[in-house]
Amino acid sequence: MQEAARLARAENKIVGLVPTMGALHAGHMALVERARRECSQVVTSIFVNPTQFGPKEDLAKYPRTFEADSQKLAEAGVDAIFAPQPADVYPPGFRTYVNVEGLSDRLEGRSRPGHFRGVATVVLKLFEICQPTYAYFGRKDAQQVRIISQMVRDLNVDVEIVICPIVREHDGLALSSRNAYLSADERKAALVLSRALTAARDELGSGTRDALALQTTMQKVFAGEPRAALDYVEIVDADTFEPVTRIARPCYVLVAAFLGKTRLIDNLYIEPSPSNPDELQFHL
Ligand code: AMP
Repeated sequence: MQEAARLARAENKIVGLVPTMGALHAGHMALVERARRECSQVVTSIFVNPTQFGPKEDLAKYPRTFEADSQKLAEAGVDAIFAPQPADVYPPGFRTYVNVEGLSDRLEGRSRPGHFRGVATVVLKLFEICQPTYAYFGRKDAQQVRIISQMVRDLNVDVEIVICPIVREHDGLALSSRNAYLSADERKAALVLSRALTAARDELGSGTRDALALQTTMQKVFAGEPRAALDYVEIVDADTFEPVTRIARPCYVLVAAFLGKTRLIDNLYIEPSPSNPDELQFHL
């Protein structure tokens, strides 16, 4: 892969990388299609990265569907699939990890200690190996892409991060490889995440700017769905990921919840409208 990447760079190819853990769905494929439009060569990596899973998490049972994935990627016109084995990525004696301080220890990082250290480390390795011009990430994992952007800036990595919108099912559920774990009943209950975010968006639409009021609204939506256990609902500055009290600058409404053993996340991105900074626009 590194050899091919070196060649592509020497030929002045615009290389797009789409890092994934496989079990590909329309959310992943939207990243691939965007990369296809913007790059002359597209590489998709498929790697279920052990270092980003906690000891009690779902590493062993994470869906692995390589055959179906490679077919989808071939149909989408991807030039290369990079699917290394864990022992290739982390050979015996591996010792170096990337830690993006501050941003990594709250929200997802607090619920999943060590998660972002694993993510940042593997993504830097993927960048080094694949040498992309652009790398495509989904806004679904908002904190992840914020941390990766910070790493790229701090370590002078020569890659441009492209952030793509969340792709949802027709009923609002954000696509996720982990949705495959849900029973029919949990699948219905999982709609509470997007329903809570929609409630927050509607309240913002009618003028509320108070973060606590929005949080309370969302907690009430969760209280009405006993099959879901709320992990957190937070409203944070999109740059610092610190909680905000009033919605003014770009920010995220972030939610994480358990449906049975399955942990799902979702978010609403809020930013001032480019044409009128007094107005907000919402990206669900
Ligand atoms: P994963 O395979 O879950 O590690 O995800 C690989 C990439 O796909 C990450 O950049 C995710 O943010 C992105 N992604 C996952 N689900 C979605 C979705 N529903 N919409 C947009 N991007 C997504």
